[in-house]
Amino acid sequence: MKYKVPFVNYGLQYKTIKKEIDEALESTLSRGDLINRKDVEDFERNLSFFTGAKYAVALNSGTDALFFALKALGVKEGDEVITVSHTFVASISSIVWTGAKPVLVDVKEDFLMDEEKAERAITKKTKAIMPVYINGRMCDMDKIMKIAKKHNLFVIEDSAQALGASFKGKNAGAIGSAGSFSFYPAKILGCFGDGGALTTNSKKIADYAMLMRDHGQKTKTKIIFYGLNSRLDNIQAAALNVKIKLLRDWIKRRREIASFYHKELSGLKGIILPPAPDKGEFYDVFQNYVLKAEKRNKLFQFLKERGVETLIKDPVPTHFHKNLELSHFKLPYTELLAKKVISLPLYPELTENQIRHIVKTVKQFYND
Ligand SMILES: *Cc1c(COP(=O)(O)O)cnc(C)c1O
Repeated sequence: MKYKVPFVNYGLQYKTIKKEIDEALESTLSRGDLINRKDVEDFERNLSFFTGAKYAVALNSGTDALFFALKALGVKEGDEVITVSHTFVASISSIVWTGAKPVLVDVKEDFLMDEEKAERAITKKTKAIMPVYINGRMCDMDKIMKIAKKHNLFVIEDSAQALGASFKGKNAGAIGSAGSFSFYPAKILGCFGDGGALTTNSKKIADYAMLMRDHGQKTKTKIIFYGLNSRLDNIQAAALNVKIKLLRDWIKRRREIASFYHKELSGLKGIILPPAPDKGEFYDVFQNYVLKAEKRNKLFQFLKERGVETLIKDPVPTHFHKNLELSHFKLPYTELLAKKVISLPLYPELTENQIRHIVKTVKQFYND
């Protein structure tokens, strides 16, 4: 079906920056610099500058960034790591693959980890907390860092959805022991396939990730340990170097659209809006614009019939998938959210007409 407003529009974004992208790719391709070369190094510098983290290590995915961060900190079998179920499953799988046990806690009304519940979940085995900045909003990192300090725990920021976000002026990915970013196409900074990065202020963690991504090879004559292949392709890095220059403007546009949604949809009976963009403590980047909606499935259908493609992310809570062996967790708010959430399209290339059409249609649904 052809939507008047598709949920994502990768092709359109490419068309708006075609010249710069084509030039960058052509340059990389004709130099033949394909693996771990200048484009990747440039991108790491750019990302480190953008986030304020001392080191950025480009990887093939955000998942590996989380996994490598945990491994670098020595998280292993017998340990526990606290995170949430209201996230993409990758947060949890990265813990499982270290051998440690994921301990899931509920989220609050802003979709983010409940700090008090996280503190109550700490046991003698807990090694780390992994806050997830879902939808582009950071957790209250003063609270989380305080808990971590008190209990001597590492903090790994799953900032896959929050590049450019900050809390009290501190940037996502530069606060805990390490942060992770994803450049999956739908993310705020997306490449033309898969990509990710680990950020950290620790040289030890950065060095570990550099070795892990390239089979533990330090030099041609020195292999330090068994690693994996988790490199970011140079052509992806070249595209990301073009796009990261535009990211501030893209984020501004995302926030403008979120403000418009907020202004237009506030007070509408039947939906609860996400926190509005403001200039206070939270600088949100609106990776997603998620409503909590009454008659959610009907709204989805109504919008679809009127040409608006929306997304119901995780109608089944992650801990409900039987084979993941997480069903012993009881997370009432997370379970409620699975029945209520629906994401409206939000990306910088949306036109005024499209945005107005979305708002008009949502209003129509609840006012009739
Ligand atoms: C996208 C995402 C990841 C994983 O990133 P990949 O690059 O797809 O591996 C992890 N956590 C969250 C919250 C994400 O949104």
